[in-house]
Amino acid sequence: MRLKNKKAFITAAGQGIGKAIAEKFVHFGSDVLAIDINDALLTKLNVSKSLCLDVRDTEAINKAIKGFEPDILINCAGIVHSGTIIVSKEEEFDHAIDLNIKSMYRTIKAVIPLMQKKGSGSIINIGSVVSSVIGAPNRCIYGLSKAAVIGLTKSVAVDFVKEGIRCNCICPGTVDTPSLHERLEATGDYEKSMNDFVNRQPMGRLGLASEIADLAAYLASDESKFVTGQEHIIDGGWSAS
Ligand code: NAD
Repeated sequence: MRLKNKKAFITAAGQGIGKAIAEKFVHFGSDVLAIDINDALLTKLNVSKSLCLDVRDTEAINKAIKGFEPDILINCAGIVHSGTIIVSKEEEFDHAIDLNIKSMYRTIKAVIPLMQKKGSGSIINIGSVVSSVIGAPNRCIYGLSKAAVIGLTKSVAVDFVKEGIRCNCICPGTVDTPSLHERLEATGDYEKSMNDFVNRQPMGRLGLASEIADLAAYLASDESKFVTGQEHIIDGGWSAS
């Protein structure tokens, strides 16, 4: 994978998918700046540069992106809100929009002028198959926010395609990450919830964060330079069944 000497700015890199991407990119020779709100997680990462930042802080994000001048931007920060529209609260809606969507709006807005100067760049937004691709029970706010990620991706891709800037979205199915285990614990019946999640997978297993990182590495690299504006589904066949 041609990532050598490419600078990658990766949000939510402390654990899960973001961490797997950060460490895979280091393996492929990329210069990674890992961003997370949890400093303790960042100190355990195998990357040369990290910054403890909240992706909702526009000023701090602008400063970090300007200082680093990334060739690659990975927008991974996002939270899962559980529940139907009926049980959801407006504050939860606003929080999910800020974290799942507006954070991407902020980083992309900051990075585009720098990529325009270079005449190249690859932006990868982590969406979800639970979006405009499929609906899942009790994922109303989450699904609508991830559908917006696909819309943002296509819009940015179209607006900057002639300037060498690509923008793609990765739509994972259920992936084995620390927050997934927290969600399963929160149901009150971990075993049953885990079985339900696995049983809806045609392959009979959850995805691995490293599998998402492999796709991110391809989309960030020059091997994918004819690919832009797409939602790349990686869900073990869940949405096909
Ligand atoms: P996770 O939830 O396990 O970890 C998220 C990381 O984000 C943590 O390290 C946390 O400290 C950091 N973070 C939280 N708020 C932050 C903020 N305001 N600023 C900076 N960092 C912050 O991660 P995950 O499950 O790998 O999910 C990562 C992304 O992948 C999310 O956008 C999620 O919606 C998406 N996704 C996950 C799955 C899955 O099954 N795990 C499936 C589809 C999509």
